[in-house]
Amino acid sequence: LTPEEKKLLLDSIRDIPDFPKPGILFKDITTLLNDAKAFNLLMDHLTERYSDANLDFVAGIESRGFIFGAALAAKLGIGFVPIRKKGKLPSTTIAEKYSLEYGVDEVEIHIDAFLNKEGARVLLIDDLIATGGTAEAAVKLINDAKAECVETCFLINLTFLGGVEKVKNLSPVYSVLEVI
Ligand code: AMP
Repeated sequence: LTPEEKKLLLDSIRDIPDFPKPGILFKDITTLLNDAKAFNLLMDHLTERYSDANLDFVAGIESRGFIFGAALAAKLGIGFVPIRKKGKLPSTTIAEKYSLEYGVDEVEIHIDAFLNKEGARVLLIDDLIATGGTAEAAVKLINDAKAECVETCFLINLTFLGGVEKVKNLSPVYSVLEVI
């Protein structure tokens, strides 16, 4: 992406102060989705980046990872796998706990999500990496389901939170935009 293209993407993302709680600057990507030029630019970029990566699946993290992940999987002509918060997936799941600022949370994947294709090549995608806890748990789930996480991709990396450090030992990390 050129600096102008990155600026177009950054400008299409809205900052909401103090959401969902005081002190958090929430990156609202609904305005990017609503902007056809920005959304298409992003999807074309990701399609180009991953079209020769020999991927078998795209896995997306609930819920904004579903939007980008499903669109990308369709463009690449491969399947999409949802990674969801605990208790949402209907069939047999495996789960991974991770710690939040206060307390713990849990994500799940269907045990047969990769159709028992051992060593399936999977791209993990989410809208944003903050502390990296969610993505770290999601990569572990992909590995527990006997697949390989070829790369973890984010639209936005909040670099000051250092989340990439948690994930990079498990999977290469790519982010389209860095916020410092
Ligand atoms: P973390 O596990 O700390 O890396 O948090 C990542 C998850 O929380 C992602 O699914 C993000 O969508 C969401 N998230 C965390 N911080 C923000 C933020 N400042 N703006 C928007 N989403 C966020």
